Parts: sequence; C-alpha cells; structure tokens
Amino acid sequence: MIRTRTCCLICLSLLVLGGELYGEEKIRVLLLDGQNNHNWVETSESLRGALERAGLFQVVTSSSPPQDAESGAWRRWWPDFRAFDVVVSNYNGQSWPRAVEEALEEYVHSGGGLAIVHAANNAFPEWEEYNRMIGLGWRDRDYGDGIAVDDASGRLLRIPQGAGIGSGHGRRHSYLVRIRKPKHPIMKGIPVRWMHATDELYHGQRGPALDMTILASAYSDPRQAGSGQHEPLVWVIPYGQGRVVTNLMGHHWSGQEHRNSLHCVGFQTIFTRSVEWLARDRVTLPVPDRFPTTTEVVMVDLTPAPGLEVPAGHRLLYNQAMGRKEALRDFVFSDPAAWRYSGRSQGEPALEHYQQSRYEPPHRSPLNIALIDGQQFGSFVADLRVRQTGREYGHRDLCFFFGFQDPAHFYYAHIASRTDDHAHNIFLVDGRARVKISTTTTAGHDWGERDWHQVRIRRDLESGSIQVFVNDMSKPIMSARDKTFAEGWIGVGSFDDTGKLSRIRIWTPEFVRKNADFFSGPGD
Ligand code: ZN
Repeated sequence: MIRTRTCCLICLSLLVLGGELYGEEKIRVLLLDGQNNHNWVETSESLRGALERAGLFQVVTSSSPPQDAESGAWRRWWPDFRAFDVVVSNYNGQSWPRAVEEALEEYVHSGGGLAIVHAANNAFPEWEEYNRMIGLGWRDRDYGDGIAVDDASGRLLRIPQGAGIGSGHGRRHSYLVRIRKPKHPIMKGIPVRWMHATDELYHGQRGPALDMTILASAYSDPRQAGSGQHEPLVWVIPYGQGRVVTNLMGHHWSGQEHRNSLHCVGFQTIFTRSVEWLARDRVTLPVPDRFPTTTEVVMVDLTPAPGLEVPAGHRLLYNQAMGRKEALRDFVFSDPAAWRYSGRSQGEPALEHYQQSRYEPPHRSPLNIALIDGQQFGSFVADLRVRQTGREYGHRDLCFFFGFQDPAHFYYAHIASRTDDHAHNIFLVDGRARVKISTTTTAGHDWGERDWHQVRIRRDLESGSIQVFVNDMSKPIMSARDKTFAEGWIGVGSFDDTGKLSRIRIWTPEFVRKNADFFSGPGD
C-alpha cells in the first residue's frame, strides 16, 4: 500500500528480516484462502512460491474457517489487513462476517493493494463494494454489464446488462495473451503477444465494470467453446486511495495433474509484478529472459532439489539443461537426422525430435531413440522435463529407455494417452518383439497441447523395482519388477511421434563408462 508506515511496523520488520537489515524491507503480503471450488491449497502454494522466489516479498497466509464451521470459528477469524502492504485473494467461498468485509473495504479505500486471482472473482455476488473493486465477476448476464475488447483498436465495448452471454469458459487450452497497456509498469517489457500455458479463459464476466483499465486480454476462440470476443484478462481498478488488480489466469482444479496455468512464466511475472506495483507504485522485478513466445509456453523450473526424494547413496551424476547446441554431443541416435537443437527463440531450449527416424529395429519396438552416450546406469533416479509435440490419436506417446544393452535388448516406459497391451506400460525388448512387464498402470496420460511435463523414472537393481512418475511425484503411474538387464544406457524418444527434452538429471550411486557404438552422434 502506498502510505507511510508507522515506526513500530518498521521495527517489527527489521526484527523479522534479521540479516536483510540493510536492504529495502520486504513487501508484506497477506494471502487469503480457506474456501474455493478450486484446489486452493495447491494454488496458494504456487502463489506463495512465486512471490517467495521473486525475493521481494514476505508472505503470510490466512485461511478462513471451512464451509461447515460453527459461527465461533468465524468470530475468531479476523485478518489484520492493515499490517500488510498487499492482500492477495485466492478465496471463493461463503460470505465473510460483515465486519471483515468492512475492514477490507476500509483497507483498500485508505490506500491498500488488493490482488484477485482467478476464481476469487467468483466470490461475493451480494457484496456491493467488492463488486466495485473487482469490476467484473463470475455472474450471470442479468447481474450487470459485460466488457469485451475490440482487438484492432483496443477500445472497450460495453455489453449491457441482460444482453450477450453470461459467465462461462470454454475448454482448457493454451492461448495467446495480448498486452493492452505495454507502458503500464506491470506490463513494461513483456512481449505484447505471448502464449499462456493450458488454463481456463473466462468469458462473459459481469459487474459494475467502472473505471477499468484493461492491461491484458485474450481471444476466446469459439473452436475451444469460447465466446468469440476478446475477453478482459488482467485489469486495474482504483478504489479510494487504493487499487485492485484482477487476474483471471490461474485455474487449478482438484485432481488436475499439472499446475501449468500457475507455473507459466508469463502468469508468474504478471502476478508478482502486480503485487510489487500495488505495494510500491513501481516495478523492479525483471521480465525473465526465458519468457513465453507467440508459439511456445515457458514454465518456471520447479524440479525438486537433489537429496529430497533421492535414495541414500545416489548423487547427481548427469545433468543436462540444453543451454547450448553442444548438448547434442552427449547423445547418440537411432537416426541423427530426426533430431535437432531447438534454441531459446523456440521457447525452452531443448533436444528436439522433429521427424520420424529412418531406422528399422531388429524387433517390433520404438523407432526414435536418443541415448546418453558414454555412461551406463544401474540403480538410478532420472528426472526429465519433456513436451510431446505430436497430435492426439490415442497412442500419442513419448518413450523413456533404460537398461539399454543394444537395439535388441532394453527396457522402455511408454507414456501414452490411452493404455492397452502395447501402450502406456513398461516394456521389455529381449531378443523379440516388446512385451509388457508393468503390473500397474493408469488409463492414460494427457500430454496437453503445449505443456511441459516432468517425468521421473526410478529403478532399483537389487529389488528389480521400476517406477514411472509424471508430474505428481507422490505416486507412480506405472510400476514393474524385473531383473533381466543390469546396467544400461538411458535415453528418450518415441515409438512413432515427436517431442522435446529440455532437461535431464540422473542421480545414481555410480555409472559404468561405455560407449553405445551401435548408434551415431549428431551429424554436425
Ligand atoms: Zn477455474
């Protein structure tokens, strides 16, 4: 909030921040949650993570009582807004006690900053001042006016109460964000058009819609069951001496296997810069070098730190983030012509498999193979960041090779959109066509459109255990037990699709030095 702090608040923050006594004090953020039809626990975790990684903020969470709480619990829930520079709301639930509502009104009115994320604009249809602050909420069309943006001129088109469509959204998909106020401090330096990771795109939002400055919009494509109009996505509304930023991105549902909407670099940049701007009226947080382009989404790298979930005795002995073209020299290929380096201009730098390999395997098994040369691994944990770039057809897949002895002897995990005896399982190639060896699997894996996925393969030589994880590292999507092969090469590829690998890390007790002479390295 833009107002002078009292002395005792400054003293408090010096105590809290200790070592950072000489730096500028951190922006104090209150994150509100506790009820939401969305997965608010994980959403808050991501929002808090984004703020904390940005380094400027100190975040305190206040969770309201649950929906069925007795009134005593509500009487005890009394967030002290005035102790914070900015309030972030991830709350979409029952009405608050009137006194809490009044406290928030007073806080913003006297100069406080309020940031609304995604479904928080669904909350409180009956609370008039809240609706003034957010401008547009998830309401039916009779509730109030709607706003669309004329794409060519950027002008706001007012849709009268009762006319047009009410609130909704089409299918989740990745979509182009159009920055409407590139000179606004929050948006300065952000590319005017960029691809947001898979998310909902709200349309037909309704409300008093007064004093809105639309910072970003997105075209709601009828082919994705959208409205056919440019929908407001991020906007600012002044309220008294304070301000409110509403950001409709950031859908995250319970059971959703990835949080790409929240972990999109574009979303996090706008969110963190909004909070800084609300607190200080200026923005110092930079636009990251690796920002989404018009064709590629870019996600924040949240790969868990080594040691956290890695078995005892394992060390990080292979780590390739594809930062330079030379990274290709780590690999040998069943057909080098099918692979290339895809640099920063294409989004995340990656080893890209872009066309089918001219390769005939000795037995029915995947055609497209890239192996890390020079090192064979026995027991290991491998973390890979991958993207499937093919089209959906049921067996849309990426493959992960391990225990690779030669083209007729190896294991692979086939992760595909639907399971059957030849797809979405762990397979053994042992001198004949591949055989399914997994004892558990799931119905399939949704690779999405432009999303990066985190794959983890765990193998323990002694027990023969093989486990495969995608995105959710708490439970494997497939598992097997087999000891046919011991140490072997590790690699990636596809049965007959295409994809990208942007990072691979392997933790292992040790590796065996050996070259894979049967394949060849990159052509140039
Ligand atoms: Zn949603």
